[in-house]
Amino acid sequence: MASTLIGRQAVVIGAGMGGLAAAGALAKHFDQVVVLERDTLPSEAAYRAGTPQARHVHALLASGLRALSELFPGFAQDLARTGAVPVRVGLDVRVEQPGYDPFPQRDLGLVSYAASRPTIEHTVRRRVESCTNTTLRQHCRVKEVLASPQGEAVTGVRYENGDGVTETIVADLVVDASGRGALTLALLKSIGQPLPAETAIGIDLGYATCVFDIPNDASTDWKGVRTLAQAPKIRRGGLMLPLEGNRWMVTIGGRHGDVPPGDTEGFLNYTKSLRTPTIYNAIRHAKPVDGVARYGFPESARRHFERLDVFPRGFLPIGDAICRFNPAYGQGMSVAALEACSLGRLLQRLGNDGDPFASLAPTFFAEVQTLLETPWSVAILDFASPETRGQRPADFEATLKFGIALTRLAAEDPAVHKLTAEVQNLLKPRNAYLDPALMKRVFAKMTEA
Ligand SMILES: Cc1cc2nc3c(=O)[nH]c(=O)nc-3n(C[C@H](O)[C@H](O)[C@H](O)COP(=O)(O)OP(=O)(O)OC[C@H]3O[C@@H](n4cnc5c(N)ncnc54)[C@H](O)[C@@H]3O)c2cc1C
Repeated sequence: MASTLIGRQAVVIGAGMGGLAAAGALAKHFDQVVVLERDTLPSEAAYRAGTPQARHVHALLASGLRALSELFPGFAQDLARTGAVPVRVGLDVRVEQPGYDPFPQRDLGLVSYAASRPTIEHTVRRRVESCTNTTLRQHCRVKEVLASPQGEAVTGVRYENGDGVTETIVADLVVDASGRGALTLALLKSIGQPLPAETAIGIDLGYATCVFDIPNDASTDWKGVRTLAQAPKIRRGGLMLPLEGNRWMVTIGGRHGDVPPGDTEGFLNYTKSLRTPTIYNAIRHAKPVDGVARYGFPESARRHFERLDVFPRGFLPIGDAICRFNPAYGQGMSVAALEACSLGRLLQRLGNDGDPFASLAPTFFAEVQTLLETPWSVAILDFASPETRGQRPADFEATLKFGIALTRLAAEDPAVHKLTAEVQNLLKPRNAYLDPALMKRVFAKMTEA
């Protein structure tokens, strides 16, 4: 289908996963797209200051791979060429969860790739750079989103360039993909509009990560291992995934103050204390490639832009600026890419509209709301720990029991296993579980229990 142009210039704040994916979607609908990034953007896949989370495991869900391939056709092949490791969902990562050590390993016919976050981001960035109507400007720190005198519309942004000089750029659409979304909140305050309500789930996650060379005698039964905690008794969990360059990245973590140490010996000892010894046994004699990186993640947080009555025209937040998820579930990059796809389809539809910007924000927020329901329902599972802060849903016990029975069914039945993997990979919405025949089987399992 031919793309419809809806404006002259779009400006994206931030060249992280949300900003790059958004740029891919916008390029088909604007004459020019400019991405402003405060960091130096490395020419190779490398860590950078603006995304400190990149030093930790970044699992790309099958939906994220699919969304990035929709925005950048051939993306999966690009990623494969970097040495990213193909991962067959359900088979290649040994999942250890209470009652199933391991969960039955099956090839469910879904594939993603395991790679470092810098490699995933760099692969997307190269695609954005190759887009003739898109410019990436590094060393540009956005200071302010600019609005019209009455505040009803956004007109551009003011930023500081690498020489410390303040510049402004006009735009028909500004997308805030700066992660924190502080610029969005500052804009709403400055034009006297209400801020979005926020739902938070406090988990105080302490993360530590170390990269190892994969030893020659590594197990061939799996490529990675996920060892889950057992809330509320055991707070510690770990995820080890392969990376390009024959390495493993191992991220371990605890909740509510159970923070892993920042030195290699302490890291190994903490790994030894996980619920099962699989990850420890795999890395105990492996060579660390560099030191231990740590990260503190206080809470999952969702901003309810969809509930606002008014929102400035020509402006949208995306990615973490809307919703940040417990990173242990590996959802953020994929959700950002899915939001960008949703934005692209919306722009295509609105292209024939007389005034596309009039309904852009409310329609986008409504569609994002639907998209967030499934990943947020996973974030809510953190209420299994009594120390979790926030509004525990009234029906939480029933949700937990349903989940336990569904897991038992999935262990027995490959078709149910596949369905749960599709939901966890955000390929299907959670309400796929409401199929009457499936519900009957789940309720039967609940009765058995
Ligand atoms: C420890 C940890 C582990 C994670 N693991 C996973 C995982 O396994 N799988 C997964 O899918 N997700 C994971 N995530 C989430 C993922 O990192 C984010 O959800 C994703 O990067 C969101 O993209 P974004 O564009 O919103 O933000 P980011 O990717 O963080 O990008 C924001 C960008 O904006 C730039 N910026 C900020 N302010 C300005 C400014 N004023 N001017 C110009 N530029 C600016 C920053 O430098 C940065 O480049 C993890 C997160 C954490 C914290």
